[in-house]
Amino acid sequence: MLHTLSDELLLSQVKALAGEERRIHRQILETLLEVDRRQLHLARGFSSLFAFCTDELGYSPASAQRRITSMRLLKEMSPPEREQVQAKIESGRLTLNHLAQVQSLARTERWNLEAKREVLQSVEGKSVRQCERILASQMTSPVLPRETIRPVSATQSQVTLVLDEETLQLLERFKELTAHRNPLATNAGAIRLALQIAVERVNPAREVKRRGAVVGRGAVGASAKLESDTGLPQSVPTREAALTHRPLSEQSSRFSSRHPSRPLRRSVWQRESTCQYVDPLTSRPCSSRFKLELDHHLPFSKGGETTAGNLRLLCRAHNAFFGGRTKPAL
Ligand SMILES: [Zn+2]
Repeated sequence: MLHTLSDELLLSQVKALAGEERRIHRQILETLLEVDRRQLHLARGFSSLFAFCTDELGYSPASAQRRITSMRLLKEMSPPEREQVQAKIESGRLTLNHLAQVQSLARTERWNLEAKREVLQSVEGKSVRQCERILASQMTSPVLPRETIRPVSATQSQVTLVLDEETLQLLERFKELTAHRNPLATNAGAIRLALQIAVERVNPAREVKRRGAVVGRGAVGASAKLESDTGLPQSVPTREAALTHRPLSEQSSRFSSRHPSRPLRRSVWQRESTCQYVDPLTSRPCSSRFKLELDHHLPFSKGGETTAGNLRLLCRAHNAFFGGRTKPAL
């Protein structure tokens, strides 16, 4: 059909479609704002708005990030100001790229909304290259290359990242200490070995073989952030340390603290390795493995026991989601 159109009609059609696309960009940002406000992405079993945009809406990671970052900037504005910016998006004076770049730079430069507003005005109507130049002139810290992971073969990837001096010294020291296990002293070999050791160390499901008392750490519950053993050691309640020598079943019945013993935590981590949230509407499981925390299925404040049966793993987003839901209505 298109090949039968006159040049004039074809150009007019593509311009109309571009206008329609800008109008849709505005609507996408508006609807994402409302989805975010209602936390519907969490309710539907996604651990983040980014996961919702890529997995459910089908956006590429870069497209999803651009829309979410733009939306976050709009979210900070008052409704009248937001309306003005959205009108400019529709007219083409501002684009998702403008908003996302300003918001991203604002994060590293720690700008307040007033500063963002000024910079956004200065990039209005500017091309991508012009916008980048203006933003570069506003930077006070050096521009670091973005971290990238690019596959170079079926089993290998090229990773680009910037290390500070301290990290570099740690890497060199690690290579010295492990030279017998990494004879060629390659960075890749050292990183692999370091990560193997680190992952084993922070995995809460690991069996601990130590002489003397076994220690536990951390708190549990929607408001208390309990992560894997990545944090610093904390002091341990005496009765908890004592309980670690009892069978789990006995601990479960007697232990009335919201703090689970280390063996109890380990048993939950051995049973589960992903977020246990399941959307009641679609049955979609979250299954995130990121920032997992222990949670009382029946809240401790409502009589829920600190037992293996009442504990589960939730990602931080869903733990907070439940925390918000269980708060008394104002
Ligand atoms: Zn989750």
